[in-house]
Amino acid sequence: MNPDHNDPLRARAHQALREGMLDVQAPPVSDYEHALEELKLHQAELELQNEELKSTQRIAEAGKLRYQMLFDALTAPALVTDTNGLVQDANRAAVEALGFGNTTRIRQHSVLRLFSGAAFEEFSRLVRALNEGESRVLGHAWMARPDADPLPVEVQVTALRSGYHLDRHYLLLCRDISDTLERERQSQLLDSILHHSESAIYAFDTDERLLLANPVTRSLLNIDGDPIGRKRTELVPAASEAQYLKHDLKVMRTRKPLLLEESLVDNEGNSRHFISQKFPMLDQHGSIFAVGGVSTEVTAVKAMNARLDLAAHIFETGNEAIIVTDARQRIIMVNRCFTETTGYTEDEVLGQTPALLQSGRHDADFYREMFETLASRGVWEGEVWNRRKHGEIYPQWLRISRILDSRGELCNYVSISRDITERKRDEEHIHNLAFFDPLTGLPNRELIRDRARQLIAQADRHPEPFALCFLDLDEFKQVNDAFGHRQGDRLLVEIAARLRKELRDNDTVGRIGGDEFVLLLPGIHGENAPKRLQSLLKRLTRPVDLGTRRVSVSGSIGIAMFPEDGGQFDDLLRAADTAMYQAKHAGRNALRFFNPQMAERSRRRMDIEIGLDRALDNDEFELRYLPCYNLANGRLHGCEALLRWQHPELGPISPGEFIPIAEQSGRIVQIGQWVLEHALEQRRQWQDAVPGDYVIAVNMSAREFHEPAVVESMAAALERHRIAAPWLEIEITERTAMQDPDSAIRIMNELKQLGVRLSMDDFGTGYSSLAYLNAMPVDRLKMDLSFVAQIGHNPQGESICRFVVGLADMLGIDVVAEGIETRAQKDTLLAMGCEYGQGYLLDRPIDAANLLARLQAHSG
Ligand code: C2E
Ligand code: MG
Ligand code: MG
Repeated sequence: MNPDHNDPLRARAHQALREGMLDVQAPPVSDYEHALEELKLHQAELELQNEELKSTQRIAEAGKLRYQMLFDALTAPALVTDTNGLVQDANRAAVEALGFGNTTRIRQHSVLRLFSGAAFEEFSRLVRALNEGESRVLGHAWMARPDADPLPVEVQVTALRSGYHLDRHYLLLCRDISDTLERERQSQLLDSILHHSESAIYAFDTDERLLLANPVTRSLLNIDGDPIGRKRTELVPAASEAQYLKHDLKVMRTRKPLLLEESLVDNEGNSRHFISQKFPMLDQHGSIFAVGGVSTEVTAVKAMNARLDLAAHIFETGNEAIIVTDARQRIIMVNRCFTETTGYTEDEVLGQTPALLQSGRHDADFYREMFETLASRGVWEGEVWNRRKHGEIYPQWLRISRILDSRGELCNYVSISRDITERKRDEEHIHNLAFFDPLTGLPNRELIRDRARQLIAQADRHPEPFALCFLDLDEFKQVNDAFGHRQGDRLLVEIAARLRKELRDNDTVGRIGGDEFVLLLPGIHGENAPKRLQSLLKRLTRPVDLGTRRVSVSGSIGIAMFPEDGGQFDDLLRAADTAMYQAKHAGRNALRFFNPQMAERSRRRMDIEIGLDRALDNDEFELRYLPCYNLANGRLHGCEALLRWQHPELGPISPGEFIPIAEQSGRIVQIGQWVLEHALEQRRQWQDAVPGDYVIAVNMSAREFHEPAVVESMAAALERHRIAAPWLEIEITERTAMQDPDSAIRIMNELKQLGVRLSMDDFGTGYSSLAYLNAMPVDRLKMDLSFVAQIGHNPQGESICRFVVGLADMLGIDVVAEGIETRAQKDTLLAMGCEYGQGYLLDRPIDAANLLARLQAHSG
């Protein structure tokens, strides 16, 4: 066998033999030897080869061992699989992590079972795509663990060199990413907090540059673009900047968190309010690198608080008492007005129910209805009497409301009440004003009317007669005028008290006018009425002490019976009024039952009143003249104009009847002007026929006398008819003069200045005060004919006549006697010193022509 010198192995074998390095016998030179040589070489070759093999094997084993050590030393779990994912090898970390006792056990398990995650579902396809030595990360997966949750891992697959294996193997290196995931999760959490927080979250570094700002912060500051890194002065309205800086500096100085109120004032001056938590942010060396902040807006809360404060203030200071109870009506809150009104302190009522205040004035039904209304309508309102702590019962206007919570369930009752004691008092006062006479406290016309209506209505069921009496005080006006209104009022109060005393329970007495009283006497009838009323009249006339003086007044009573004299209040009142007039005519201090003739009279009165309206226009008046003579020498002194009226239907009506009616209706003023006009015209005609200083007297009623223009119009009339003022005498009755003496004196003086003469008519029938009489510039007193008529019959009357004559003499004025009908009267008067007289004995009232004849006769 020829050594192939090209064969390196053979070359090395030769070398080894030559150097005796190999224990191979030197081959013989013969063929055998050659063969042997060849054999030896071959053997050397084999041995060399074997040697090399062993060395390679040693190297390989060392490599494998190294690989295994490395593999096991890896802290990350590592696995070797085939293309199908069957585990061929696994390091210790993997074996442990996956919960296998040793490597052998894990072999042939599929990674598809050991791992979950999308990448493993197509493991084979993914790995096949890898070239030898190439790696790829399979993404997140979860490694199953026997006693714990799957471990999140990132798996890197590397395609291994095939070596002598037919199938390719893959190294799966797992990296535990639970920390990363946790960090990611934390960061997401923070992000989400920052994002979703309704508070502004932000941080500024020590250089006042923005480090962090969540969306709320950005929107609050109206930031466009990326603000991070910008200075606070650029981001925050100037009005607020200093405040924030101050707070940040404080946090930096104290190194402590701060909780404070801040506000954000925009450029228009609108403020928004925040509660801010500021805190230092420290780096790893403990140095502050920023100040963080969380600011929560409380603008609305603040506004609400302000409203609540206001509500609390109103609650506390309002002047209505407020009680708040829970659903079970236990008091949970009361205000100051409540404690003041009821006298209870808050402590005394908390936990109690409002029943504590009940007065006992309302029955169970009242409260039941109250709660029924509350339940159905939610509120109840009305008047309730409650009791204060010290026992006083008082009225209140109460409003209770039921309060429901957001779920519609009853949670509270609120009761608001106002003490209406005062209002009640006012109402009562107003009621009294409307129905009672303020002076005497007696019922007024309205209340009397109401009571009468009740009696009339009752009579429908049980017919029962009653009397309605009209009482008018006699001469009250004179008392009033003489002593003043205050004394008049005192008298009325006393009379009212007396009347009240006389009455029985069911009777009513009221005052319907100045000195007019009405009595309602149920159960009385025609027989027993006079007795009771007479005794009442008697009591009335007892003197009344007015402090400085005692006066006594009488009364005239007219009685109307229900139902005979009228079925309605107004009819009865009219009938009683008529009867009362009759009582007055009968001489006062008297009683009169109404009778139909009286009604007749009152109708006549109405006819007269209506007739007077057209009497002037229809020229129905005429004047007659009653001569006045000097009693001593029989000379005609003058005459008195007396009015005559011819009513077209009723015939002649005396002035005694129609003058008072004209006076009441006010017609008298016009009528008086007519009289004056015609009297002066007549006087002028007589003067033209019989010149002289004789006097024409004209009667003047109170109404005319007090007319404002009375003096002027008289002056004008005198002028018009060219009558010298002293030719005219104005007669004013004593009553008229004494009604309002001060103003009477004033008017009389004015008339006197005009130059006319004045006489006081019907003297003796009024209440003259001497002082006034003395001050009145009258020229004559006309003694009333009622006294003259008594001459020869009644010595008392006669002495009055004497007194009047004496009085006139004392005052230095003339006296005229009226109504002289007999010679005896004339002689007596003349003997008394009475200078002038009028009367049927001397002359009747005559017409103008007849008077002219008298004048002519006397002038001759
Ligand atoms: P007087 O002013 O006191 O007038 C006297 C009244 O007595 C007149 O009644 C007269 O006719 C009447 N008389 C005169 N002599 C006698 C007599 O001897 N016996 C009786 N029994 N009566 C006599 P007359 O005319 O009916 O007037 C009544 C009253 O009416 C007057 O009382 C006067 O107050 C008033 N009067 C009359 N005319 C007027 C007038 O023009 N204006 C005003 N305001 N009142 C007048
Ligand atoms: Mg007269
Ligand atoms: Mg007279």
